[in-house]
Amino acid sequence: MALIVQKYGGTSVANPERIRNLAGRVARYKAMGHKIVVVVSAMSGETNRLINLAKEIMPDPDPRELDMMVSTGEQVTIGMTALALIELGIKAKSYTGAQVKILTDDAYTKARILNIDEHNIKQDLDDGYVVVVAGFQGVDAKGNITTLGRGGSDTTGVALAAALKADECQIYTDVDGVYTTDPRVVPEARRLSKITFEEMLELASQGSKVLQIRSVEFAGKYKVKLRVLSSFQDEGDGTLITFEEENNMEQPIISGIAFNRDEAKITVLGVPDRPGIAYQILGPIAEANVDVDMIIQNTGADGTTDFTFTVHKNEMNKALGILRDKVQGHIGAREINGDDKIAKVSIVGVGMRSHVGIASQMFRTLAEEGINIQMISTSEIKIAVVIDEKYLELAVRILHKAFELEEA
Ligand code: ADP
Ligand code: ASP
Ligand code: MG
Repeated sequence: MALIVQKYGGTSVANPERIRNLAGRVARYKAMGHKIVVVVSAMSGETNRLINLAKEIMPDPDPRELDMMVSTGEQVTIGMTALALIELGIKAKSYTGAQVKILTDDAYTKARILNIDEHNIKQDLDDGYVVVVAGFQGVDAKGNITTLGRGGSDTTGVALAAALKADECQIYTDVDGVYTTDPRVVPEARRLSKITFEEMLELASQGSKVLQIRSVEFAGKYKVKLRVLSSFQDEGDGTLITFEEENNMEQPIISGIAFNRDEAKITVLGVPDRPGIAYQILGPIAEANVDVDMIIQNTGADGTTDFTFTVHKNEMNKALGILRDKVQGHIGAREINGDDKIAKVSIVGVGMRSHVGIASQMFRTLAEEGINIQMISTSEIKIAVVIDEKYLELAVRILHKAFELEEA
């Protein structure tokens, strides 16, 4: 007998029929004697619908009230899921994040889980219930409803698995595992039967939305056994996220390609080249809780520097406003520009540690198609480039081919 957390994404709960299908799977696991906790997302499209509704009232919605609204999507599906289970004669109980007490910080729309009170869930499981928990939401120390960022139900699932010391966390979605890249962009993409935790962390951080990055971080920190599976088929082992790196000569150098259309580039031109400048530029950005991803700085012949960094597209205007109001005059920068027509493509693989020439192969492949590279960043197992967004799909396809990632 095992304790299993099963998380179902938006397409897996898109209508009553799919919810009944989900309940059928849960019933089969229950019949095998397992204890099951189910985490569900809102019906697909619902979170977007709620965000758009909020924006109709207030173009830049107050974050507390936005979370109040968008968290309702999951409250509907937990009730529906519990009903579908009860209809099958299975004892089931649904809980919102606040009812469980999934305690988060107070960073509305991107809150972090601080603690989970697992007491009631454990009691219910011992009493024979299937427990259904709303993904994506929590509650801060003052009782305000918070949400965990887009795709956050994955994190609810893995965090619950960690808190309950579950034997496995299964992420059910609309693909049957983690692929070499998004199969919607490259139909020749190949499913990976396993992937190392480190690679999954890089892919998620670089934009593969199959798993939210924080869910992978939780899995790593608490060594949660994590598997991505299809909710549309009962066969198949999906993709297992492993913690051991195999010493396998046949291990490909590159395991996957991630991409991201969500970033915007900000350039501060003509900044005096002196100590403290990076801090003066990025300090106020950090204080405003805007996350910065890539950063580069170049010194020109005239001794001034150009400072470029990327932020989420949604936060570009906020960051530009802060720089123009508080920073530009103060440091004497000549000009500040924003560009949201960019995209980032990243190749990821632990094999990079033991092979040279991967970056040059990537740059050559892009150059051959005339794709200009605007920014580069690397880690031990990743090379990421920023390019014009209009070349994104082309870049992913040619890199997928160049690194021989297709189905054999
Ligand atoms: P859910 O609603 O179940 O959470 P998501 O839409 O968040 O589902 O994530 C699944 C989607 O992630 C897939 O439909 C696929 O288009 C996309 N995706 C991006 N990169 C990958 C990848 N490397 N492997 C599999 N799917 C990927
Ligand atoms: N419903 C939320 C979203 O659309 C959370 C999730 O699906 O994981 O982002
Ligand atoms: Mg998702």
